[in-house]
Amino acid sequence: MIVRLLRHKSSFSRLTLTNFSFRMESTGQRGKIQISQDTADLLVAAGKMSWIAPREERVVAKGKGEMQTFWVNIGTTIDVSAFQDGMGSLDDSLSYEEGPFSTLSPKTTRLVLWNVEILLDMLRQIHVLRGKTTSTFREIIVRSEERHTTAYDEVEDVIQFPPYNGQAAEIDTDGVEIKPEVEQQLEDFISTIASMYIENPFHDFAHASHATMGVVKLLSSLVKAKPGEYSDVQNASYLIASNPLVQFAMVLSVICHDVDHPGASNAILLSEKSRMASVYGYKSVAEQNSLDLTWDLLMDDNYAELRAAIYRTEEEKQLFRQVLVNSVISTDLFDQRLKDRFESRWKVGFPNESHGDQGTSKNLQATLIMETMVQAADIAHTMQHWQVYRKWNLRLFEEMYQGFVDGRTSSDPSDFWFEGELQFYNNYTLPLVRRLRQSGAFVTASTDSHQDYAEQNKRQWENKGKDIVAEMVDATRAKITARMKEGPHGLDE
Ligand SMILES: [Zn+2]
Repeated sequence: MIVRLLRHKSSFSRLTLTNFSFRMESTGQRGKIQISQDTADLLVAAGKMSWIAPREERVVAKGKGEMQTFWVNIGTTIDVSAFQDGMGSLDDSLSYEEGPFSTLSPKTTRLVLWNVEILLDMLRQIHVLRGKTTSTFREIIVRSEERHTTAYDEVEDVIQFPPYNGQAAEIDTDGVEIKPEVEQQLEDFISTIASMYIENPFHDFAHASHATMGVVKLLSSLVKAKPGEYSDVQNASYLIASNPLVQFAMVLSVICHDVDHPGASNAILLSEKSRMASVYGYKSVAEQNSLDLTWDLLMDDNYAELRAAIYRTEEEKQLFRQVLVNSVISTDLFDQRLKDRFESRWKVGFPNESHGDQGTSKNLQATLIMETMVQAADIAHTMQHWQVYRKWNLRLFEEMYQGFVDGRTSSDPSDFWFEGELQFYNNYTLPLVRRLRQSGAFVTASTDSHQDYAEQNKRQWENKGKDIVAEMVDATRAKITARMKEGPHGLDE
């Protein structure tokens, strides 16, 4: 039901996206938005008939024959170049008029397109590799199956990755075109995912996109095989570095890992005995919910071409899902069982503080590396520049403080925030940074930078944290009071 409502919503977002699309579709015209009869009907039903005009000539659409389409004219301008430099596109510095259709904010739309570009690049790699490899698997149509376990129980200690593929080291995606319907479905899918994020102070689509940037950076700093090393592979990181399907699944898992996050921790959801908590057996509740919503959406009939671009065989589908499951569930840092299990697996995978041991399962190592990358991406702000850390830390504080004000928890975050952050650095961030290094999977410059920032931030927090918490309390209280004055509308938004 939720998904159906969102799909409706999404057809409007899609309009916004078409408008911003930097690659005009073959039948389109620059500066004009073309929409289908279905979408036109929706607009007419919404009383927006004046926004559209039928296109004089018919358009020939693949598989559908001649079609009547409509033009929508909105005076929207956007600086396209800003999408292309990653980091810069995440700034709020762009200004442009908003189209009347946008259910997604301009900022979210930019983030959607940025995420789509990353995934498209991986789809191109999958496409090229598929052409090079003679698949030993039969091509079968995989249908959406009934699952009898929860995602939490689906987590595997060791994922069986396909063997290292030397071909992948030489993938050239220059000039590789992804089918327009795949690209369109991907844009639609990611914008729907974005619209399924709740606008929490911290756990929103901007956080997911920030984490995507983190995982993309880590993927690009994976140690890769050099020509000549292909036959004698020692490093487990190659299993990830040489597999665009795995990378696609990892990036997607990060994009979707907090979908529909209710702005409250699992501990609060458990204490509230919410229906969601009981559905998921009181385990990794928010994470399992995000994963299920994403998976069910992806299995929608509207995304058949997108799915076929991601996986073609049952084996590929299973690998894709397993990476998604392990990755998303691994972002639950506070489940004791998951934590214990991870630590005991790590001792086996990377014994004696040294990496690259012969005899140790490369699949186990790659599974651990993959989960560590996703976890690091999720808390990337703790191992980035102090200002970045401060920005996200304030948002997290606001979210938790709102929960306190709303009576969802009896503990006032300002009582434990100073100590809590130090503990987080000691118990999570710094051990994680050490594991990145110990795995031997990344180039030194990358692990050095993570470690330096994490240590610097911890030191700064030790010195200034108490004052900062006092400031954050004042700022957050003022913000909440202002919102209350706006009335229920302000709170609902
Ligand atoms: Zn997160």
